[in-house]
Amino acid sequence: MSDTDGKKTLGLGTRSGQVKQSFSHGRTKNVLVETKRKRVVVPKPGPAGGAGAGKAGPVGDPSRRPAGISDAEMERRLKAVQAAKAREADETAAREAEARAREEERQRKREEMEAKEREERELAEAQKRKAEEEARAKAEAEAEAAREAAAKSSPAAAAAPGEAPAAPRGGAPARPPVQRKSEREREERGDNRNGKGRAGDEGRRAGKLTLNEALAGEGGRQRSLAAMKRKQERARQKAMGMNVKAEKQVRDVQLPETIIVSELANRMAERAADVVKSLMKMGMMVTMNQTIDADTAELVIEEFGHRATRVSEADVEQVIDTVEDKAEDLVSRPPVVTIMGHVDHGKTSLLDAIRKANVVSGEAGGITQHIGAYQVTTESGAVLTFLDTPGHAAFTSMRARGAQVTDIVVLVVAADDAVMPQTIEAINHAKAAKVPMIVAINKIDKPSANPQKVRTDLLQHEVVVEAMSGDVQDVEVSATTGQGLDQLLEAIALQAEILELKANPKRAALGAVIEAQLDVGRGPVATVLVQNGTLRKGDIFVVGEQWGKVRALQNDRGERVDEAGPSVPVEVLGLNGTPQAGDVLNVVETEAQAREIADYRESAAKDKRAAAGAATTLEQLMAKAKADANVAELPILVKADVQGSAEAIVQAMEKIGNDEVRVRVLHFGVGAITDTDVGLAEASGAPILGFNVRANASARASANQKGVEIRYYSVIYDLVDDVKAAASGLLSAEVREHFIGYAQIKEVFKVSGVGKVAGCLVTEGVARRSAGVRLLRDDVVIHEGTLKTLKRFKDEVKEVNSGQECGMAFENYEDIRPGDVIEIFEREEVERKLA
Ligand code: GDP
Repeated sequence: MSDTDGKKTLGLGTRSGQVKQSFSHGRTKNVLVETKRKRVVVPKPGPAGGAGAGKAGPVGDPSRRPAGISDAEMERRLKAVQAAKAREADETAAREAEARAREEERQRKREEMEAKEREERELAEAQKRKAEEEARAKAEAEAEAAREAAAKSSPAAAAAPGEAPAAPRGGAPARPPVQRKSEREREERGDNRNGKGRAGDEGRRAGKLTLNEALAGEGGRQRSLAAMKRKQERARQKAMGMNVKAEKQVRDVQLPETIIVSELANRMAERAADVVKSLMKMGMMVTMNQTIDADTAELVIEEFGHRATRVSEADVEQVIDTVEDKAEDLVSRPPVVTIMGHVDHGKTSLLDAIRKANVVSGEAGGITQHIGAYQVTTESGAVLTFLDTPGHAAFTSMRARGAQVTDIVVLVVAADDAVMPQTIEAINHAKAAKVPMIVAINKIDKPSANPQKVRTDLLQHEVVVEAMSGDVQDVEVSATTGQGLDQLLEAIALQAEILELKANPKRAALGAVIEAQLDVGRGPVATVLVQNGTLRKGDIFVVGEQWGKVRALQNDRGERVDEAGPSVPVEVLGLNGTPQAGDVLNVVETEAQAREIADYRESAAKDKRAAAGAATTLEQLMAKAKADANVAELPILVKADVQGSAEAIVQAMEKIGNDEVRVRVLHFGVGAITDTDVGLAEASGAPILGFNVRANASARASANQKGVEIRYYSVIYDLVDDVKAAASGLLSAEVREHFIGYAQIKEVFKVSGVGKVAGCLVTEGVARRSAGVRLLRDDVVIHEGTLKTLKRFKDEVKEVNSGQECGMAFENYEDIRPGDVIEIFEREEVERKLA
């Protein structure tokens, strides 16, 4: 059938014509169809004519030309119409392009979204799978239990197990097991009633499943766009959380000396794990329960963009008076002098000579006491304070503690020797501390003395003495003859004048501990050198980690005094514990303040040690020990008369050792060698080295019994030498002293012309006139020298045997008391053995 067949129309003809119509009953008929023909207008110039009744066009339709419009007008209009058309076409194109771009954008977004969604879905699926597995395992276990229980009560319950694995799929992971169980019980009951109940139940579950699967399901199931957006936003914030916070809120973090990692995180309001991570990046492997020091913590705080505020000291210690002294309150103070130099160049002899010379010229009968420092007055009237612990070890350990007490260093160089290693060390220490030096060229009395060589030697170490037209004063002296001592003292006084040393005696005292020890009778005793202000009886003070109230002050002559001004050394009684050499003493107002500061310092020090241990020592030591497991260790115990010596020895010990052997100081302390020391030594197989101390009676007995070796020394150099030799396995026979007897002082008499004489009982061995003697008080050596007399009744004798009484007097020493012990020793060749 043609297009026209059976259809009346459809007047597509453009002109009138005939259309053949066919009908179903077989008849056909031709009909005439007349159609209106659309008129095509071709604009052309010339008079408008034949304008038929065209289809009514739009207003601007050129086909409609209202009467009375000129050709020119027409043309203009046509042009306008054309222009409009062109514009329209342009706009359409632009619109289309825009639409296309929009469509593309949409497409891209869709793809992006899908990709993201896919990712999340995968993640969620992984999580879900994990959760499901866990839950399934749990549920199975429960189901098992349930099956067993149910099997007892109802045979139908056997159907339940099949149910159990389904439960977790229904989002059970988050549900508490109890609930699941009760549900299952309900289900079981339903099951027992009818099958439909179960089906319904499944249906309910299926609903829940759908929800979960909608969140994490496969294929076409999708979450709502809003949910997805929320999730993305959460993820983004989580990822950036740290930075966002840091930018948003900069916190002032209060930072004490040490801090526990988790507490640091807390104060920064950061996650502890992030802090640990940041520490790891810095190479510190710590957990959040470990303590780190303030410097490290500060780095971390900066890393997180916060501000660190160091508190600690400032908080508790601000009660300590730190006001600047007014110029009008300042007065001159004596210089504090330390004597340094190589061993055996005469430091001790010089100190003794200076002191003795002064005592003789001072008040009659004045007895010097070893308190770690003493004062002398020069002929010109200047007062000088000498620190009585010679050697740079003490000087260094004081400085290490932050107490720079020395104003002037006297460098002793023996004229018969040269500049030696320790001379150089002393020079370096003085330079490091920026303390001016005076060179004492000692032993000038010796025929072999060559002071000029000393001067030229010193040039090599940039010490240019005045005799070499430099600015370092040099004095030739002899500790033995006393030659040049006055000039030395005047040189020191002159140097002090140049330094213009000033202090304010009106303020609360500030001082440094020179020595400290636990005295059996008097409790903790510390020699304090007052550096500024005046220390008075009754003052409340804090010193290092200790505190106290001045009960008594005793000067270097053993006299009780009520106060001590700047540069005056005094023994202070009334401490609650023994401080360390180099600790700083500050007078505060109340006991509560003193106690608070001391407590704070103690805990801070403890934390600091712990921090140091955690961060370095412990791990590093372990690593080291592993790395060089074949290095032998020589353990030792050190006991000394004063803190300064103990520290000097420990420092010297630390320097000993090579690739094969190392010295380890297990323990060091001040005072007599006790049972505890012997016990520790026995446990570690270590010898005990006593420097100017002795073992008490019971320690001596147990050492003998346990086979612990105790060695006594009175010269640090000898001790160091012995340990060195032991460490290198080179213990050779050498001249060493040994004890030949002990005597106990019963009474002390004053004999005119002789001085103080001790009435003694020889308790062990023999007392020999020619032997060396030491005076021991509380098992601590307080003097070493020779005897002036050894009397049996009225007669001078050579020897007194054990069990007999005798009279003894020391050469140049008078501070003897009943109860003191005299040790008699001789030097002889001994086979040395150590450890
Ligand atoms: P230190 O190790 O530096 O303390 O030296 P010492 O003071 O113990 O002296 C070491 C040795 O040198 C001792 O035997 C002293 O008697 C001796 N000695 C010290 N000063 C002089 C001196 O001026 N002249 C002489 N001839 N010997 C001295």
